[in-house]
Amino acid sequence: MPQYADLHLHSKWSIATSRDLDLQQISIAARKKGISLVGTGDFTHPAWLQELKEGLCPAEEGLFQLRPELDRRIKPVIPSPCHNSIRFVLQAEVSTIYVKNDRTRKIHHLIFVPDFASAERLVCRLSSFGTLSSDGRPTLRMDAKLLLQIVLDVHPLAFLVPAHIWTPWFSVLGSKTQFHSIDECYEELSSHIFAVETGLSSDPPMNRRVSSLDRFQLISNSDAHSPLKIGRKASKFSDIHSFSFIRNALSTGEGFEGTLEMYPEEGKYFLDGHRACGFSCSPEETHVHQGRCPHCHKLLTKGVVHRLETLADRPPSMLPSWSKPCSYAIPLTEVLSEVLHVGPQTNKVHNAYEHAISCLGPEIPILVNVPLEEIQSIGIPRLSEAIHRMRHGIIWKQPGFDGQYGKIRLLPSE
Ligand SMILES: [Zn+2]
Ligand SMILES: [Zn+2]
Ligand SMILES: [Zn+2]
Repeated sequence: MPQYADLHLHSKWSIATSRDLDLQQISIAARKKGISLVGTGDFTHPAWLQELKEGLCPAEEGLFQLRPELDRRIKPVIPSPCHNSIRFVLQAEVSTIYVKNDRTRKIHHLIFVPDFASAERLVCRLSSFGTLSSDGRPTLRMDAKLLLQIVLDVHPLAFLVPAHIWTPWFSVLGSKTQFHSIDECYEELSSHIFAVETGLSSDPPMNRRVSSLDRFQLISNSDAHSPLKIGRKASKFSDIHSFSFIRNALSTGEGFEGTLEMYPEEGKYFLDGHRACGFSCSPEETHVHQGRCPHCHKLLTKGVVHRLETLADRPPSMLPSWSKPCSYAIPLTEVLSEVLHVGPQTNKVHNAYEHAISCLGPEIPILVNVPLEEIQSIGIPRLSEAIHRMRHGIIWKQPGFDGQYGKIRLLPSE
C-alpha cells in the first residue's frame, strides 16, 4: 500500500516554530494526518539531537521509531482508526550564506543521514561554520558545494536535497540567489543530487517547464513550523522499507509514486508584490511598474511564478507523461473552517476534525479518496460537497505574495 512521507519538518528548537514540536506531538499529528514517515527536523541542534537519541529507537535499516514507553503514552489521544505505525528519518535543514561570483547566495538545504553516528560526524564538521545551537535551522558561512562534500563524506548513503528551490530569499534558484541551475551551484558534485523540493509556492507542472530539472525527482514536504501543518504537502512511496529504499526511490524513481500538493497559489511567494502595501501583481505587471510598488515605490519581491518564467524553456502545459503524478488537497482544518464559518484554530473546527478522523480514519485519505457517501454519513453539513469540489479543482484562488499566504475558497457564499 502506498505510504506518505513528510521529509521536511522543524522542531521546537528552530526560530519561529511552535513549542509543541516535540517527538510525541509530531507522532500524534503525523498519525492523524496519515503520514507514515516523518523527518525529525533539526538534528544539527545539540539539544534536539539529544532528545532524538533519548526518544527514538532503531526500527528498519536507517529508520527510527518512538520508544515504546513514549508511544504507549500518546495512544489514548489518537483515535483508533489512526493507530498506524510511524517511522522517523534523521533530517535537518541548514542555511548557507556565501558570496560566489560577486553575488551573495543564501540557500536552504535538506540533509538526510541513516544513523546517529553520521549525524554527529556532520555536526562536528559543520560546527566550525556557524553556531549550531542558536537555531534548529542554523546559518552556516560556507559554500553550498562544500556543504554537499561534507554530507557525502559522513556516510555513503547520506544525501542532500535543495530545499524549496524557488522561494525568493533562501533557495538555490530563487530570485535573490539567482543561480540558473542546480549544476551552477553544486558544480561537479551536482551529480550526487537526485531530488529537489518544490516548496509551498510551486508544484510539479510548474517545475517541469524547466528542462534542467528533468533529471531530478520533485519531492513535496510540509516544512511544518507547528504540528498542525505536518503533511500539508507530502511525498508518496510504494513502501518505506528502509533508508536505502527511500534513497533509492528518490535517485531512480522506482518506488517513488509522486506527491500530494497544496495549490501553489496558497504559498507565500506565488506572485510578485509588496506585502506592507497589500499590493500583488503578475510578472508582466511588475515589468510595467518597472519592478517597483506603485504605492510606495519600494522594490517588489519577485515571486516564484516570475522567477520560474525567467528560467522556463517549455510553455505551460500539463505534467509530462514521464513525470510522477501529483494530486491537490487543502488541509482538512481549512476545509472545515470554511464549511463551519469559523477560524481554523477554533474549538469548533478542532472538534469537527477529531470527529471526522475518529469516524473515517486519517486526514489524507479523507481528502483524497474516501467515498463521498461515507463523508456525508458523519453529519458535517456541506463537508462532502466541499471535498467533492476540492477533488475536482472547482475552487477560487487568491494567490499569496511577498510572505503572505494565499487563500483558497471551495464553496460559493450561501
Ligand atoms: Zn527553508
Ligand atoms: Zn524548513
Ligand atoms: Zn509598497
